Amino acid sequence: MVPPTTNPKVSWPAAVAPNMPDYGKERAGFRWADARSALEGLPDGRGLNIAHEAVDRHASGQARSRVALSCIDRRGAHRTLTYGDLADESSRFANVLAQLGVAAGERIFVLMPRTAELYAGVLGALKHRCVVAPLFPVFGPEPVRQRLVLGGGTVLLTTATLFRHKVAPVRDRLPALRHVLLADVAHPDEAPDGALALPPLLAAAASQYVIPRTSPDDMALLHFTSGTTGPPKGAVHVHDAVVVHEATGRLVLDLHPDDVYWCTADPGWVTGSSYGIVAPLVAGVTSVVDEGDFDAERWYEVLESQRVTVWYTSPTALRMLRRAGPELARGRDLRRLRFVASVGEPLNPELVTWGQEVLGVPVHDNWWQTETGGIMIANYAAMDIRPGSMGRPVPGIEATVLSRDPQGSVRVGPDGAPLEAGQGEVGELALHAPWPSMFRGYLGDEERYRAAFLGGWYLSGDLVRRDDDGYFWFVGRADDVIKSAGHLIGPFEVESALLEHPAVAEAGVVGLPDPIVGDVVHAYVALRPGVAPSDELRLELLGHARRRLGAAVAPREIEFDQDLPHTRSGKVLRRVLRDRALQGWGAATSDREGAS
Ligand code: ATP
Ligand code: MG
Repeated sequence: MVPPTTNPKVSWPAAVAPNMPDYGKERAGFRWADARSALEGLPDGRGLNIAHEAVDRHASGQARSRVALSCIDRRGAHRTLTYGDLADESSRFANVLAQLGVAAGERIFVLMPRTAELYAGVLGALKHRCVVAPLFPVFGPEPVRQRLVLGGGTVLLTTATLFRHKVAPVRDRLPALRHVLLADVAHPDEAPDGALALPPLLAAAASQYVIPRTSPDDMALLHFTSGTTGPPKGAVHVHDAVVVHEATGRLVLDLHPDDVYWCTADPGWVTGSSYGIVAPLVAGVTSVVDEGDFDAERWYEVLESQRVTVWYTSPTALRMLRRAGPELARGRDLRRLRFVASVGEPLNPELVTWGQEVLGVPVHDNWWQTETGGIMIANYAAMDIRPGSMGRPVPGIEATVLSRDPQGSVRVGPDGAPLEAGQGEVGELALHAPWPSMFRGYLGDEERYRAAFLGGWYLSGDLVRRDDDGYFWFVGRADDVIKSAGHLIGPFEVESALLEHPAVAEAGVVGLPDPIVGDVVHAYVALRPGVAPSDELRLELLGHARRRLGAAVAPREIEFDQDLPHTRSGKVLRRVLRDRALQGWGAATSDREGAS
């Protein structure tokens, strides 16, 4: 298939030149050791700590009075914290942990709405050298319990409401959990049994905290994967990851000190903590923190009123905005928006150009995973975007495409080294190990961790191809790819073609077994508001897909479904669609409940 090659041009406001004007030059001269030395390090050579780089470094200098967080609560009330405020609040939290007898290395779980207290808690725990494990507040009690048990959580930071709904029902099955700290309970006697009111403890704690010696290899964060392909895995990350967060914040997200930055991912996911908390603070910018849930009108309002300049979001969110219609953006002044990036799923080419039309800037796709700890492949501010492509590897990252045999194993040469795929051939995306933010283990599953590496390469489990210019194109997850009549078909490509049709809001494409061709391509389509499903429309969509993709790749069947299953992070759950088709509704529904 011929990839689309239109290259929307970025027009730069005169004052903001891109941080990486020349990709080739930056890449050629890039060393992680240099990137590391651009960070300050703990005073007196005491090592490297994420929280020092994120707040204390700024708070002890000229940036102390700069706004670090611009918080909007659910009702729209606004509150700001400077770098100085955040340094003080996080130090108080670290002192509370010390007073409670919490030791370095203990796991602190964070189940919080998007508020300043979440930020202070995460950073305070990192100062105290605890390991932070963020949880998504929308999880039910069982996913919360499973993760707390797997991670050996001894402290939980949460709110009274979340405690009541998500933790109290399973509290007696969490024997390792010693302290529950409630961020919004003002008086000790108002705290429910087994929990502590945090604000009085913070008020009594000192706002100074000297971060003890921290090794770059000390464990800092525990992130659970989204669970798209199976049960979520706990990926272990270390303080050295901040080197990648700093470099990618600068080179990929193009953060400049005066930026107002908004990452829409919840800190319960790796994007929301690495690029919602760490990277923007390390860069010294102002971050917008919106407690509210997705609402198209509210989001345009936030972009406009907060004067957001750099926006990091997801294809799901962009699709929802697109679904809500361009009228909502009309009359909004979004001229400050300079750079928009997206991650988490393939960014359909349609959305790149939608960004250009509706937001005034195209959307830059980038790729990474919980395991990689930071952005690895990206479209950059100063480079042409290839819509549909994830871009090129971040400077310092060596990426390749490894050849796979029909059973799906990476082929190795006579010397045992993995073999690269030919130019343009589909294979497994692999990254040369190590890099500073590479995960250091799957919690409780050493074997799985070891199996993720081959001959010095980390195997991502994603299938891609690379074009002549070194741009990577996502084909699908190794488990998702459809083999039909000898063709290897990426569901994303088919979904993107369907999404080009004005009637289509969202699509999920799977392969269903067929005795003759192996798999047949089967598409589930959610229609845009006001569009009614009909046989004519089904035929029209089939025709559109055939014209666009060719008969071998186009779906054989299209089903309308306004309620496509998603992971909690918003990805279409193809495995649920497939199970649903194969087993009928009953089995699929129970799977969906468990999906995170
Ligand atoms: P699990 O590993 O538990 O199945 P998951 O892989 O969805 O869950 P994450 O680490 O949150 O968990 O997601 C990373 C994956 O998301 C990538 O491996 C890739 O499949 C997909 N992804 C991320 N960014 C992109 C992108 N820009 N284009 C295509 N796919 C992407
Ligand atoms: Mg994964």
